[in-house]
Amino acid sequence: MGVIERVVEPGFCSGCGLCAGLCPSEALEMGLNSSKDVVPILKGECSECGLCLDVCPFSGEDPGIDDTAEGLFGDVPGISQNPVSGFYLSLWEGHVCRKDFRKRGASGGMASWFLTRILEQGLVDAVLSAGPDESRPGFWTFIKAKTPEDVISQAGSVYHPVPIDAVIREILLENSHDRYAVVALPCLAYGLRKAMKRIPRLKEKVAMLVSLTCGLMPNRRYSEYISLESGILPEDMSYINFRYPPGEPDSSNYRHVAFSRKGEQGRPVPVKGLPDLLWRHEVFLQSGCLICDDVFGETADAVFMDAWLPEYERDTRGNSLVICRTPLAEKMIRDGMEDGECEVREIVYERLMQSQKETLLVKRHLLAGRLARLEGMGVSFPERRVAADRKVFQDNGKYFRFCEKLKAAAQQVELETFEDLEAFNRLIGSFLEEENRMLVEGESPFESTE
Ligand SMILES: Cc1cc2nc3c(=O)[nH]c(=O)nc-3n(C[C@H](O)[C@H](O)[C@H](O)COP(=O)(O)OP(=O)(O)OC[C@H]3O[C@@H](n4cnc5c(N)ncnc54)[C@H](O)[C@@H]3O)c2cc1C
Ligand code: SF4
Ligand code: SF4
Ligand code: SF4
Repeated sequence: MGVIERVVEPGFCSGCGLCAGLCPSEALEMGLNSSKDVVPILKGECSECGLCLDVCPFSGEDPGIDDTAEGLFGDVPGISQNPVSGFYLSLWEGHVCRKDFRKRGASGGMASWFLTRILEQGLVDAVLSAGPDESRPGFWTFIKAKTPEDVISQAGSVYHPVPIDAVIREILLENSHDRYAVVALPCLAYGLRKAMKRIPRLKEKVAMLVSLTCGLMPNRRYSEYISLESGILPEDMSYINFRYPPGEPDSSNYRHVAFSRKGEQGRPVPVKGLPDLLWRHEVFLQSGCLICDDVFGETADAVFMDAWLPEYERDTRGNSLVICRTPLAEKMIRDGMEDGECEVREIVYERLMQSQKETLLVKRHLLAGRLARLEGMGVSFPERRVAADRKVFQDNGKYFRFCEKLKAAAQQVELETFEDLEAFNRLIGSFLEEENRMLVEGESPFESTE
């Protein structure tokens, strides 16, 4: 039995692509399922070797995230630990001052700057980061960034699954000693750690793992919806800039904008409104994300995220928070601060938690209710670090019923044409009003921002 039966069919795949990249029989290929999740599809003969299960972050064949992190960082002198954030040596807040990292970055540009510094200091030969898939317009893949210019050209956040299969195959086969830093979402970071244990050659190749904090990944349907809202047919879309600068003075209301294959830019789509409604209510998300309990990329050496803090609400230039788990990662930040490339200051743990309040609500608290819902349906799932909690499910009964109703409505239309979009918006529009009412009357677990 492989990942198809154990992970994909029950709906636990995040689309990371590790299984397809590492399958020795090349039996798996990344594609789309009927919900438009990016998943592996069986295309060749499976020898039942079990490697895909050994590397998959959702197979349950696990050392587990906690034990993996303990093995990596448990002995680092001065390290602290918390069950929600994982290990941390130091926590930082700030932004990059050098060149246009801040302008190009999703937040304060700290991730691209950090990766550039690693590259410039010769600690790695290239960075594997997310970029447009040139062989498949409108999709994303991992790209080898060999120069600082390459790294900065991949800045920004990709809210579409980015499978790592092709580049993993390539680096394992290449005839060189090149070593890489990988920017991975938490699930991929953990899967890579599992794979590095199993495949010594991969351990030689991956010298550093950097993660982004992750609050759920949209699936392909989300990009199709954004493309249409932006005024571009999904079949003509070549790329979406998911972190187009905010139009009004509110840093969290960033916009998405699609580009056509002829290079025309579409209309910017603010995330506040329907996109946020979908994210909050489990619509157009990779199904595996709904059981994910790793917010802070707990197995990565350093983690980058948005500074979603009240002081920065009106600062649309972008600000970052950073978790360092190794002395080397911390040294990079301190050196950058001393030589003026970035303006950062150390912060306390509570500030980190404050900035990720909504993500923690969705991925930790409400997860307990989602797991109870699965248990109630008789679905077994891989062991999680958050326990299923029937009380959370019942206390948020109105919210969970609303999610089901919205999901059912959203499934009724394909999103291929502008007529589909009109029909979709007609169906979904009333849910926005209903959500507003629930927010005002305290029936939603989310806080009203009005
Ligand atoms: C799906 C998703 C959900 C997120 N959820 C949260 C959240 O809940 N809270 C929060 O604070 N931050 C979240 N982030 C992180 C945030 O959007 C920024 O990426 C982060 O703050 C780093 O910004 P920066 O300016 O420092 O990085 P940048 O300088 O913009 O560099 C980002 C680096 O990450 C790479 N990258 C972008 N997207 C992906 C991807 N999908 N897979 C692999 N590599 C990628 C880029 O290629 C680039 O190298 C999320 C990111 C993603 C992709
Ligand atoms: S069990 Fe082995 S051969 Fe079969 S899909 Fe998984 S990795 Fe490939
Ligand atoms: S989560 Fe990753 S490794 Fe697991 S089945 Fe999905 S693509 Fe494969
Ligand atoms: S929510 Fe979890 S499973 Fe989904 S992309 Fe983020 S880290 Fe991966």
